[in-house]
Amino acid sequence: MYDCSKGQLLKMNILVINCGSSSIKYQLFCMETKQALANGTAERIGSREAFIVYKKGNRSYKLESELTDYFLAIEKISELLLNPESGVIKHKDEIVAVGHRVVHGGEEFKNSVVIDKYVLKRIKFYSKLAPLHNPPAYNGIKAAMRIFPKIKQVAVFDTAFHQTMPQEAFVYGLPFDLYKKYSIRRYGFHGTSHRYVSDEAAKILKKPLDSLKLITCHLGNGCSISAVKYGSSVDTSMGFTPLEGLIMGTRCGDIDPALIGYLMREEKMTIHQMEELLNRKSGLLGISGKSNDMRDLLVLAQKGNKRAALAIDVFIYRVKKYIGAYIAVMNGVDAIVLTAGIGENVLMIKERLEQELNNVLSHKTKILLIHTDEEKLIALDTFDLINGVISSSK
Ligand code: AMP
Repeated sequence: MYDCSKGQLLKMNILVINCGSSSIKYQLFCMETKQALANGTAERIGSREAFIVYKKGNRSYKLESELTDYFLAIEKISELLLNPESGVIKHKDEIVAVGHRVVHGGEEFKNSVVIDKYVLKRIKFYSKLAPLHNPPAYNGIKAAMRIFPKIKQVAVFDTAFHQTMPQEAFVYGLPFDLYKKYSIRRYGFHGTSHRYVSDEAAKILKKPLDSLKLITCHLGNGCSISAVKYGSSVDTSMGFTPLEGLIMGTRCGDIDPALIGYLMREEKMTIHQMEELLNRKSGLLGISGKSNDMRDLLVLAQKGNKRAALAIDVFIYRVKKYIGAYIAVMNGVDAIVLTAGIGENVLMIKERLEQELNNVLSHKTKILLIHTDEEKLIALDTFDLINGVISSSK
C-alpha cells in the first residue's frame, strides 16, 4: 500500500474537522490511499480539564493541554501531526485542504462548497436553525483559516443530501406562512452518512446507485432513516431539528405535539425544561430509566430487566414502522442498510427485521450492515472540490 508519510506524493493530505460544542473530532486523510494517517479528538475545550487524544495506527496518546478555544485546539492538532516523533507529516503544506462538517446549510446549500466570505456568513446565519451546531463549526472554520491561511476550506453539510426531498415530504401541516417566514420545514440530518452508505450499498450490490431503491438506517446515539430512491434522498425521519423520527439514546423522536402543552401545564415546566426532557431525558434512557447506551440495555434485558427490554422493543418497532412507510413512499425497496454504532453491531436488529418484515420484503431484498464513514466522505468531497472534479455550486 502507498505510504503517504514517505515518498514524493506528500502534498495529498486532507484534514477533516468536526467541531462540537466543546469538542473537535479530527482525521488526516492520505488521498492516495484514502486512509486516515492519524485521528483523534480535542475535548472539553474552554475548560481546565481540556485534553487531546491523538491516534496513529495502533497507538493512542492522551495529552492534557490548555485549550481555551478552537484556535488553540486546532493549532495543537496541527503540532501533533507535525511532531518529529509521533507525527505523520513533515511540513504544514502537506495538508492541501481542510474539510469541515457543518450541520445546517438551510435550503441554500445542496452540495458541499469551498468556503468564501459569503459561505462563512451564511453558515453563521443558519445558526438560528442549528443553534448548538453551527456556531462551533463557524468558530472551527475561522480558526482553521487562520492556522492554514494558504489552503482551501470546504464545508460539507449534514442537510445537503436531503435537499432533493419533494415538497410533499418536507412541508409540515402548519400554516404555510410559517414556512415562508421562518423556513420551518423538514430538513433532515446525517445526510453525509446516508449518502456514504448508499454509495457503499451500490458497490456491494454491484448495481448502479441510480437504479436502486434503498432505505438507510443510521442507528447511533442519534438515529435517522432515509428513503434513497435512485441515489437521491426522497424522505427522511429527522425534521426541522434532529429530534423528530426514531427513538434515540436520549431523544424522544415522534410524539403527539399536543403533549408539550399538556405536560408544561401539568408539570409547570418552562420551555427550557421541556426541551431538556425531550432531548436529554427521553428515548432509550427515558423508557428504560437506566441508560441511553444500547450495550447497557442489551445486558440488562438479558438479565430480565423489563423496562430495558421494552426500550429495545419500542426502538426496533419504530425502525420497522418507518421502513414500512418508506417502502410505500418508494413503491418498493431493493436493500435496507443498517449503519452506525447500533446498526452495525446489534445483529439482533437485523435478525428481527428479517423475521418481522418477511411478508413485506421480496426474497431479493437484502439487509446490509455497512460501516459509515462520514469523515471519509468529507475528505473525498473536499478533494474533488479543490481539484475541480465537482463544482462549488449551491
Ligand atoms: P454512534 O453514535 O454511532 O457512536 O453509536 C452509539 C450507540 O451505538 C450507543 O447506543 C452504543 O451503545 C451503540 N453501540 C456501539 N457499539 C456497540 C456494540 N458493539 N454493541 C451494541 N451496541 C453498540
